[in-house]
Amino acid sequence: NLPLDNKHVLVTAAGQGIGRASALAFARAGATVVATDINMDALASLAGETGITTHRLDVLDDDGVKALVSQSGPFDILFNCAGVVHGGTVLDMADKDLDFAIDLNVRAMIRTIRAVLPAMLERGDGSIINMSSVASSIKGVPNRFAYTVTKAAVIGLTKSVAADYVTQGIRCNAICPGTVESPSLQDRMRAQGDYDAARAAFIARQPMGRLGTPEEIADLAVYIAGATYTSGQAFAIDGGWTI
Ligand code: NAD
Repeated sequence: NLPLDNKHVLVTAAGQGIGRASALAFARAGATVVATDINMDALASLAGETGITTHRLDVLDDDGVKALVSQSGPFDILFNCAGVVHGGTVLDMADKDLDFAIDLNVRAMIRTIRAVLPAMLERGDGSIINMSSVASSIKGVPNRFAYTVTKAAVIGLTKSVAADYVTQGIRCNAICPGTVESPSLQDRMRAQGDYDAARAAFIARQPMGRLGTPEEIADLAVYIAGATYTSGQAFAIDGGWTI
């Protein structure tokens, strides 16, 4: 028997990075996985993997989320992985970027939770995992105003859902990574001009002296998905950044 046998999982932002690694890890743990993203080219690399089906899903699209859940649900596990990083302080970040971060990092999670939760409640069982970050209410990080605000909100919404439904078989937890090797982290390193210096600075944040891998975060997602005695927690996985 595998830990997630007979479990049906919805993963958002599964095209690359942590979401992709998690879709593969959930499937290896025995689950059937609906791997979704807006980027179908990225998702194509998951097509044909045992236990995984791929669907285009924009988590900003309310009707799209409802349609996906009614066609491919009900789900036992939801992994809300979609998120965006903007640079900037409270003074220099654009309002439109803040609005977009709130929509993608926070409202989209509320949207997917509203779509999957009724069926979880009917069956008295469900595990919701939300992607936060240690850059949140856990730790202030320079030049990450919108990101830190919204990832802190993810911890708040996680605890709120956990508190409301803890007696009805629903668990809701957050994952809070440090710096993890992923395509968008590569973009952020290149955007800084001196790639090697940027990479060294990102690595230096972790006392373990390296970046995390998407697979390490995926292992935690699988663990939380099957962990039956924990809810409302923010699990840091950060190479020692917040020791
Ligand atoms: P990434 O940023 O490289 O990839 C993000 C994926 O999200 C892409 O495949 C993209 O197509 C998809 N996406 C973007 N907008 C979408 C939308 N509207 N609907 C559906 N999908 C959409 O991946 P990553 O760096 O592994 O980040 C994944 C999550 O982990 C994010 O929430 C991020 O904030 C969080 N996180 C990442 C790190 C890190 O260092 N990489 C650290 C802490 C938290």
